[in-house]
Amino acid sequence: MGNRRRSDVRQTACDPATRLGFIFGWSDTVKAGCTPSLAGHAVPSYNRVRMSKSQAKDRAARLAENFAELTPPLTKDEALVEAARCLFCFDAPCMRACPTRIDVPKFIRQIMHADPLGAAETILESNIFGGSCARACPTEVLCEGACVDNTLLRAPVQIGRLQRYATDAADAAGVPFFEAGPDSGRRVAILGAGPAGLTCAHELRKNGHAVTVFEAREMPGGINTYGIAAYKYDTQFALSEVERVKAIGGIDLRLNTRVEGAAISKLLDDYDAVFLGIGLGKTMALGIEGEDLTGVWEALDFIFQTHTMPLDQCVCGERVVVIGGGNTAVDVATAAVRLGAREVTIAYRRTAAEMPAFEYEYQLTKQDGIHWVFSAAPLRIVSENGVASGVEFVRTRQAGQGRKAKLQTVAGSNHVLSADMVIKALGQEPLLGLLKAIPGLKVERGLVVVDRTDGKTSVPKLFAGGDCISKGAEVVDAVQEGKLAAAGIHAMLSSKSD
Ligand SMILES: Cc1cc2nc3c(=O)[nH]c(=O)nc-3n(C[C@H](O)[C@H](O)[C@H](O)COP(=O)(O)OP(=O)(O)OC[C@H]3O[C@@H](n4cnc5c(N)ncnc54)[C@H](O)[C@@H]3O)c2cc1C
Ligand code: SF4
Repeated sequence: MGNRRRSDVRQTACDPATRLGFIFGWSDTVKAGCTPSLAGHAVPSYNRVRMSKSQAKDRAARLAENFAELTPPLTKDEALVEAARCLFCFDAPCMRACPTRIDVPKFIRQIMHADPLGAAETILESNIFGGSCARACPTEVLCEGACVDNTLLRAPVQIGRLQRYATDAADAAGVPFFEAGPDSGRRVAILGAGPAGLTCAHELRKNGHAVTVFEAREMPGGINTYGIAAYKYDTQFALSEVERVKAIGGIDLRLNTRVEGAAISKLLDDYDAVFLGIGLGKTMALGIEGEDLTGVWEALDFIFQTHTMPLDQCVCGERVVVIGGGNTAVDVATAAVRLGAREVTIAYRRTAAEMPAFEYEYQLTKQDGIHWVFSAAPLRIVSENGVASGVEFVRTRQAGQGRKAKLQTVAGSNHVLSADMVIKALGQEPLLGLLKAIPGLKVERGLVVVDRTDGKTSVPKLFAGGDCISKGAEVVDAVQEGKLAAAGIHAMLSSKSD
């Protein structure tokens, strides 16, 4: 697809496979079977066509093009012109709309005065994941959604792209903006190296506290590394954001280290404070017959493969049905199209008005030729020879409006959508086992209950932030909650006389 703006994509033809110029087929490596990261997913024989080496090379190149970033960076001149559109509003609404309160007019003014590094410092001071957020934030509903130019000029200042321009300049210059504070003699343990945990670690290092981060996975960054749609940014970029965090020095990051059960109480004994930034668990179950059949996937496994494996080894069906109606369902469907699925359908049990996916994400699915089926609830996965071959749905009718309105099924409306891959995209389950093992921890509806001002939990010395308190918000929210908890921990450690 190349580096095209979304507006250009809109003009493309409808058939996703044709438009993306995809040749189906598996390399011999794929034929050999599952890789470790696909363990648990038997791979049915989708499109197994033997290819010559040059065909395989072409296919790899086309896949790389399919997954290229949709939004290109601004050139220097474009950035200056865009910055000049800002009105530098007093009490800027864009800044108030940003969960991390980046001083938007200040950094835009710095860009206008040819000081992109100063702009980057302004951004990163408030949000150390400023490069990721520049690319992955739903700016349309945050800063850009609040920009007064929406009313005055019918188009907001492109704050996200300007933010990217500044943080890219910082990356190119390799400037370390932050230094660790003088050693405080205090030690903090952090569970989870996602945006919440790493931000908390970075803020604590600014105040000189020793930090150890325990991360269960082999790569740091959490969902920011494993789960963001690959056309927003790739794994390498996400890992470079982690390096920016680590550049402050003194963060002891221990990968492949899962901490659970009694070990958490031990950390509470051994450290001056503990931060829980563990995010959420696997995709929620549908609770219907056939869920464990070969060919039925959970959203995260499907998306994770695009970050952990070469694209030409990722597994994808020809006819894919995605069950869900949120942004994750959109990410799954758009990834399936880019991997070469011929027909991708998203089925949502409510109407379009209730769909949780953002409007611009929905528009992207339309541009990609993805079909939507609304008011369809899955009843069972149907199979042939033990492999998923479709989903039986029943039509629904809503009593009232909104996502809490009761759903009724329409008698006699059962129908089957054929599919050789079914992907569940219903949101993530909380890590209840881990949370329940912490004595005295207050948990409501699977979320850790905290004081929203400082991340304090019901357990002394234990703080929490990110998805485990907010249930699947955005990277920018996790960053802010990591910051608030670090400030809470610092305040607690500073007030202790021993
Ligand atoms: C598919 C998908 C797409 C998304 N796309 C976007 C997007 O485009 N833009 C956006 O802003 N947001 C997006 N989000 C949301 C965003 O990624 C999350 O809100 C954010 O990553 C939450 O950060 P976190 O640090 O709380 O949790 P996570 O990122 O989940 O990190 C938690 C970390 O804790 C580790 N961990 C868990 N248990 C343990 C344990 N017992 N011991 C040690 N480590 C442990 C995990 O391995 C993980 O690395 C997306 C989310 C999903 C699921
Ligand atoms: S609201 Fe728009 S015009 Fe006003 S300061 Fe923010 S970016 Fe500039």
